[in-house]
Amino acid sequence: MYDFADGAREMSDLLGGKGAGLAEMTRVLEPGTVPAGFTITTEACIEFLRAGAQPEGLDAEVDAALARLESSVGRELGDPANPLLVSVRSGARASMPGMMDTVLNLGLNEASVEGLAARTGNPRFAWDCYRRLHQMFGGVVRGVPAGLFEALLAQAKRARGLRSDAELSTNELHALVVRFRELIEEVSGNPLPERPRDQVGEAIRAVFESWNNPRAIEYRRLEHIPDDWGTAVTVQQMVFGNTGPDSGSGVAFSRDEITGGPTPRGDVLFNAQGEDVVSGVRNTDSLEDLAERLPEAHRGLLEALHRLERHYRDMQDVEFTIEDGRLYLLQTRSAKRPAQAAVRFARDAVDEGMLTESDALRTIPADSLETMLHPRFDPAVEYEVLARGVPASPGAAKGSIAFSATEARARADRGEDVILVRPFTAADDVAGFHAARGILTSEGGRASHAALVARAMGRPCVSGAEALEINPDCRRIEINGRTLTEGQSIAIDGSAGTVTLDDVPFVEPSRSEELEAVLGWADDVRRLRVRANADTAHDAKRALEFGAEGIGLCRTEHMFFGEDRDHLVRDVFVAAERWRRERGGDGGSDEGAGEDAASPEGKFHAALEELKTIQRGDFEAILEAMAGHPVTVRLLDPPLHEFLSVHHHERELAAAEEAGADPAEVRELRDRLAVARSLTEANPMLGTRGARLGILYPPLFEMQVAALIEAAGAVRRHGGEPAVEIMLPLIAYEGELAELRALVDRVAAETADAAGAPVPYLVGTMVELPRACLVAGRLAHSSDFFSFGTNDLTQTAIGLSRDDVEGRFLGVYADRDIVDRSPFETIDVAGVGELVALGAERGLKTNPALKLGVCGEHGGDPTSIEFFDRLGLDYVSCSPTRIPVARLAAAQAALARDEVAG
Ligand code: ADP
Ligand code: MG
Ligand code: MG
Repeated sequence: MYDFADGAREMSDLLGGKGAGLAEMTRVLEPGTVPAGFTITTEACIEFLRAGAQPEGLDAEVDAALARLESSVGRELGDPANPLLVSVRSGARASMPGMMDTVLNLGLNEASVEGLAARTGNPRFAWDCYRRLHQMFGGVVRGVPAGLFEALLAQAKRARGLRSDAELSTNELHALVVRFRELIEEVSGNPLPERPRDQVGEAIRAVFESWNNPRAIEYRRLEHIPDDWGTAVTVQQMVFGNTGPDSGSGVAFSRDEITGGPTPRGDVLFNAQGEDVVSGVRNTDSLEDLAERLPEAHRGLLEALHRLERHYRDMQDVEFTIEDGRLYLLQTRSAKRPAQAAVRFARDAVDEGMLTESDALRTIPADSLETMLHPRFDPAVEYEVLARGVPASPGAAKGSIAFSATEARARADRGEDVILVRPFTAADDVAGFHAARGILTSEGGRASHAALVARAMGRPCVSGAEALEINPDCRRIEINGRTLTEGQSIAIDGSAGTVTLDDVPFVEPSRSEELEAVLGWADDVRRLRVRANADTAHDAKRALEFGAEGIGLCRTEHMFFGEDRDHLVRDVFVAAERWRRERGGDGGSDEGAGEDAASPEGKFHAALEELKTIQRGDFEAILEAMAGHPVTVRLLDPPLHEFLSVHHHERELAAAEEAGADPAEVRELRDRLAVARSLTEANPMLGTRGARLGILYPPLFEMQVAALIEAAGAVRRHGGEPAVEIMLPLIAYEGELAELRALVDRVAAETADAAGAPVPYLVGTMVELPRACLVAGRLAHSSDFFSFGTNDLTQTAIGLSRDDVEGRFLGVYADRDIVDRSPFETIDVAGVGELVALGAERGLKTNPALKLGVCGEHGGDPTSIEFFDRLGLDYVSCSPTRIPVARLAAAQAALARDEVAG
């Protein structure tokens, strides 16, 4: 147990973030700004949960700490004349906002409530506290459903025609306490304990136990917080924001929590206590209102914010209470902030001399940067505004209305885009945030639960759209005589605070000068290079804009899709298969075969020629766009039947038969259908794809290589310097690589000869099978580079089929702690990561000049990037919108390495 005066910020493992922050504030701020108290350590909680009982000696220590508190405050618990009241607060190492509950006003009983009334001369206030104590104690400690208290409260207000809690009279509060008391006794068997010490003891136990309440468990799972941290418990002298109009409670940020701009922002609720301000029960006032009404307290708050920010060298988020004009601080922590605010803060903090560039880079959660590239409603397009609310979390989102977290999850699991719509949100809704594209509420402001959680999760949010009458029970929204129902589509712009039913187009955000500055620092620091996965010239251009240094994966088959190309591609692949059959599938050289246009050979080549023209054009555009940066082109990877849908051929045949087509044509279609059927595979992921296609149908790969080299030649003739890297997918055997490398070199030489100029190129192996990692030493002989295809490597190393498992057992595995996170999201270091390490090491041993990259999803995941950086790989490749994430993560990885190295 630590009194605030004996704790410090470094002790957050023991004292929890809240306890450590209270101790630190006690030291940093003017004496008396932080009400006195002490914190019971997380160790006690862990001990309690393990043993299922109070650790020995805890009671005695609590007694002693309470005695110290009583003497320092000069009041005693339960003193009928001048009682000490305390709060019992929870606080884990990492902030878990609203996941576990706090109980205020402990120490009141039938005698001391009169004492408080007498001391303050304010009986209404004393009874309001007593009413709240019943409500919180009953709800949090005894598990009485909060709705039952709310219903009684609402009934009392309705009976008198009152709008807010603050209008209830002393007598009405008195009557409510009697009802609440009965309710608690009825539901839990016992009323609120009369002895204050018993109240405190029960509340402490309840906080320990709240570590394992379902919403705390769910939150930890989503945020990857270990289950064995436990929570600390803080016992603190009460101060009161509900004594009258010169009192209040609020939250404030040392800077604008949404834009990161320099002006502190906050919300205050006058004559209110505790969580009133975030619960959205009444609309809040701003810091400007506070400045007008209580200038002294406002000045004190700004001063405290400034001091805390300088002290922590990070943007702070504080909770405060004002009692009769006097300011108290009750909590401080690093502010969770959307990416734009994080970036703005980092840049400004360096300008202000508060942080070095390296330290500033560390303050930005790399993963969040992608949200800065979130779209917003196209400002040039007119749309009908259905409602306006508070722009609570940036970004625009479209989806169908879901009124509950359960519904949102269910529909998202089916692949739908969902907007979670609630009057306001609470901890139980958090899983729905995760599933939803965006969140819309009719109540609450920028500090509401909905806003905080949405920002922390990077979801767009519009809160407080008051015109909407949202009724989740009837699954309806009423607005201006219109009714909206579940499933209807809706769009929100969390940067503008607007809601519409129109299908508004989104636009990409404009580049921010702050982001450029920050990424510039990151580029100075990082060692890993960052490339993009891009299949078209359009994506390539975007990737360059985001700072890509090349293309790490260009999937050629993506050029085969599209209305105009489907038909041709089908012709090519049917011809390919007929050609292979005719030659008995020996895959040997085709020298001197009869080039009769009607033969399978002739048809195959004619179709290929046409496809080649298209590919050449696509390649040329990409190489042109990448202006000399390396472009890794992967030769055809998917199995042919992916392009030869049996269903399509069946329909085609049926249509021809129906129309009484020429028998020759019908025969042809029947045969095509037979080809399509014969190519179907039971397990295509492990079937005839990648290198295997190149071995069975060499002309396919020959065509692609020729198209690419011709394109590069053309770009060179226009004065460009294309850097071509040809990648062979799904290599398992050295023999495959030898044969295909020979094919590439031969075709490249022939093509260059025909063009009259050589084109430099590299040939590399896509390493995505465990065998390839094991024989990497041998593969490296004929590879200029390796690119680890970590998506398929994960599937083949663990034996998981991604599409089949993600929605099924991986969730259960995460719940049971079998896996921490999906191995498709972040690299499985111990297994798949080890294969990458082995492949890299063995490859380099044979060929020290070997270039090493990663081209799976993991190339855009900060945790995986840190791992790849430590392995010494040369580059990662990720989707264009992840490029800024990867640049920053690579810098953070380099900084972390430096730190370890000292
Ligand atoms: P959470 O972790 O949910 O933020 P807190 O422990 O911070 O819970 O408590 C919530 C609110 O209760 C605080 O913001 C503050 O307004 C109020 N509160 C807690 N302790 C006290 C206290 N000693 N005096 C006055 N208000 C308090
Ligand atoms: Mg709370
Ligand atoms: Mg708090």
